Amino acid sequence: MTNAHVHNVGDRPLGKVYLVGAGPGDPGLFTLKGKALLEAADVVVYDALVSPPILGMVNPQARLLPAGKRRGYHSLSQPEITQLLCELAQQHDVVVRLKGGDPFVFGRGGEEMADLIEAGVDVEVVPGITAGVAVPAYAGIPVTHRSLSSSVTFVTGHEAAGKYRPEVDWQAIAQGSETIVIYMGVHNLPNIVKALTKAGLNCETPVALIRWGTHPEQDELIATLATIEAEMQATGFAAPAIAVIGAVVNMRPLLAACRPEIADIKGAGASGDTKILTAPATTIGDPLARMDSGMI
Ligand code: SAH
Repeated sequence: MTNAHVHNVGDRPLGKVYLVGAGPGDPGLFTLKGKALLEAADVVVYDALVSPPILGMVNPQARLLPAGKRRGYHSLSQPEITQLLCELAQQHDVVVRLKGGDPFVFGRGGEEMADLIEAGVDVEVVPGITAGVAVPAYAGIPVTHRSLSSSVTFVTGHEAAGKYRPEVDWQAIAQGSETIVIYMGVHNLPNIVKALTKAGLNCETPVALIRWGTHPEQDELIATLATIEAEMQATGFAAPAIAVIGAVVNMRPLLAACRPEIADIKGAGASGDTKILTAPATTIGDPLARMDSGMI
C-alpha cells in the first residue's frame, strides 16, 4: 500500500470499511452485528473460507467480490486488497471486508486495518468466533479443562511465519502450554511434530485434526504425535484444518456424543439474485482483473 491518502470523489464523503469476522462456518455462529452489516452493505469483499450460508445473508443489491487467499491458488495480494478497499470506500458508504473466523486471529486484520487508517479511511472491526476455539468444540474438545489443561496456545503452523518474525519457538510452546491449537498447520505438521517431540513432548500425546469444522463436511482424525503423520497419509487428510494437541483431546469420546447441530439459516441473498462478480467493475482498476472466483 502506498502511504498516499485516499480522497473523496466529488461531493461524496468517503465510506466506512467494516472488518467483519464471519466465524468458522456454521451461520449460527455469526454475530448479530456482522449480520446487520451484511444486510446494510453496498459491497462485500470476502475471503475464501467464508461459508456460503453467510454469503447468503448479504443484501441482494450489494456487490460481492472474492479476494481469494487459499494455499496454492491465485488471489489478491495484501496491498491489492487494501487498494481495492480504498477505491470501494470512494464509491460506497458501507464497505464490508468479510474474513473467516476472527479478523485479528491469523487473519491479517491488524495489517489491513492499519493500512486503511494510514490511507485516511474510516474503519471498524467486528470480531468473529475464531476457528481455534469453535472447531475443537464442535468435535467435542474443550481447549481448556480444569483437570486436564489450564493453558492454551494458538499458533500458526505456516512455514512462512519466519519470513516476518523469528521462527515459532516450538520448544517454548511444548514446555509452556498444555493445549496447543495450530492454525494452517496441515502441510507442515510432520515438521511440527518432530520439533515438539524433540522438545520433550511425549509421543503418546493425543492429536486431533479437524477439517471444515462447523461446516456440514466436518471431518476429524484422532491420533497421537507418534501416529499422526502415517494416519494423515493413509487418509489423505487435507487442509483447511485445525490441529489440537494435548490431553483435552481425550474428552472427545464423551463430549462428541452431544455434537452441535449446524444452523439452517436462509439469508436475504439466498434467493439467488445476489450478484457475485468475478469480472472487473467499471471504475475499479487492476486488482479485480486478477480475481479468481474465490469460492470454496
Ligand atoms: N481468522 C481465522 C483464521 C484464518 S487462518 C480464524 O480466526 O479462525 C486459516 C486457517 O484457520 C486454516 O488454515 C485452518 O487452520 C483454520 N480454519 C479456519 N476455519 C476453519 C474450519 N472451519 N475448520 C478447520 N479449520 C479452520
